[in-house]
Amino acid sequence: MNPFINLGIRHDIVNAISELGFENPTPIQEQSIPVLLTGSNDFVGLAQTGTGKTAAFGLPLLELLDFEENHPQALILCPTRELCLQITNDIKNYSKKMGNVNVVAVYGGASISDQLRQIKRGVQIVVATPGRMLDIINRKAIDFSQVKFVVLDEADEMLNMGFQEDIDSILSTTPDTKKTWLFSATMPTEVRRIAKKYMNEPFELTMGTKNTGNANIEHEYYIVRARDKYAAFKRIVDFNPDIFGIVFCRTKIETQDIAEALLKDGYNADSLHGDLSQQQRDKVMKRYRDRSLQLLIATDVAARGIDVNDVTHVINYSLPDEVENYTHRSGRTARAGKTGVSISIINAKELGKIRQIERGLGKKFVKAEIPTGFDVCEKQLFSIVHKIHDVQVNEQQIEQYLPRIMEEFKDLTKEDFIKRFASIEFNRFLDYYKNAPDLNAPLEEGRRFERDGERAPRGEAGKSEYTRLFINLGSVDEFNRGDLLGYICNQSKISGRTVGKIDVKGVYSFFEVPNADVEKVTAGFNGAEFKGRPVRIEISGEGSSERREGGGGGYPRREGGYNRERSGGGERREGGYKGGDKNGSAGGGFRDFSGKRKEDRPERRRRF
Ligand code: AMP
Repeated sequence: MNPFINLGIRHDIVNAISELGFENPTPIQEQSIPVLLTGSNDFVGLAQTGTGKTAAFGLPLLELLDFEENHPQALILCPTRELCLQITNDIKNYSKKMGNVNVVAVYGGASISDQLRQIKRGVQIVVATPGRMLDIINRKAIDFSQVKFVVLDEADEMLNMGFQEDIDSILSTTPDTKKTWLFSATMPTEVRRIAKKYMNEPFELTMGTKNTGNANIEHEYYIVRARDKYAAFKRIVDFNPDIFGIVFCRTKIETQDIAEALLKDGYNADSLHGDLSQQQRDKVMKRYRDRSLQLLIATDVAARGIDVNDVTHVINYSLPDEVENYTHRSGRTARAGKTGVSISIINAKELGKIRQIERGLGKKFVKAEIPTGFDVCEKQLFSIVHKIHDVQVNEQQIEQYLPRIMEEFKDLTKEDFIKRFASIEFNRFLDYYKNAPDLNAPLEEGRRFERDGERAPRGEAGKSEYTRLFINLGSVDEFNRGDLLGYICNQSKISGRTVGKIDVKGVYSFFEVPNADVEKVTAGFNGAEFKGRPVRIEISGEGSSERREGGGGGYPRREGGYNRERSGGGERREGGYKGGDKNGSAGGGFRDFSGKRKEDRPERRRRF
């Protein structure tokens, strides 16, 4: 017998969910459905998103309500519009063989009159975000006096978003006799408090240990210098050719900058943040769900409630402030029994935060190494090989061209042909990564590292206290870093301690000096000659090392099914500096992160 029937779910619902591919109940469904079906308990479920909790409360609701009556009997409150639509859609799917089930989604950012009209027509289940719900209650457009069940979904998120008062007001319009079912990924004291306030001896169900998060998620962290973060991030992406990921940033500006940079570097990415209109957000989400976007760059607030299956990686480009947020972020992967990886790219100073999250989750994180250029090339090569092997051939379409294709290749042996085919994409990676530096931050580098670390935010988030200068001398002139430092100090009369990173190349080099010293340095080199050659100093257009690797155009990603909407990209710019202009733009490279803008601060959250 179908296991859902055994749990007490009726046939027409079981038939509908079978069509959705629900063959066996998930653990939370198995444990909560029998309890909730009694209809006589308050309930607290500590469960992550992706565990199947919508059906865990949705199926019992469909069993318990009287659909002959057309007035609100169940109210489901959730934090975001996305989740609201998701739940509404799920319940409609579960009930599609039942008839006379009316569910309405009530959320902000959409026409209120449409929602009012639907309510007027008669509904039994209202799925709502608190703000809009309260608005409708205040207009006296809905009657909750006969509500039997209230579900508070993602309660911790609703509190995080400052909805406590709204929830209080909404619940005060529902009868005392109703049962309240609360679901939350985490159980901070605030959630405990509302559980206590609204519930009477609730049945408590904890899936897994408190706060451990989803067992199918592997947690990894990479330690890099802040300036190398973007390059390291791209390398991780390149090392995972089939990545379908969500990248979390702390600010709207950071999401935009990274998405733009990725686009210019030929990746398929877009940003999702609070400044977008609802229409824009829907568009981005649709592209992501359809997988025409490979990387979604999002802020915590904007990504709340995102329910997309098969997300392979969550990348914490910036760590969140709180463990709870980390749990929510990482819960976007490994949904519905799948596995996933949650990656944090940090600098050494943030190691303490990782330990804190580890403690909060009760889970050990794995310290991973940024792959070498060689690793990436090898990984990409075999990804291409597998794709060629597994590609679905459209026999009909290709047939007409086959004679000509065969003719073109008639001189090649099978081996030659295979080599060439695989090389089409591989060569690009090989070319791009052939001199790729090690991006792992050496912890034992001690003071030097700390110095980098202190200056890190400049490169990363854009407070430009240092300027990167180009000099037309390099290793061919027999300079190493020490020699060049000595030469620069001697020539410009600045202290060696103030000089930042020095990058000696072949016929040229880069070095960083405090902004305040730029004039002094350029003046110091005015008219200078080296072995009879004029020495040229210019403000580098190439930017810091994070931009160097792929920043100036970057590797144009081609392979794979994701990159359908790839824009721009451009070939990798040779020789670094030549591609730049004096204003700090690497010409096709990513928008300079320097010049931190006023609005570049974490999205403001209404705190509970
Ligand atoms: P949720 O935690 O409710 O957001 O569910 C996460 C995902 O798992 C959704 O895409 C559901 O459609 C799917 N799902 C829920 N229950 C089951 C089940 N019993 N079998 C297979 N998939 C499920």
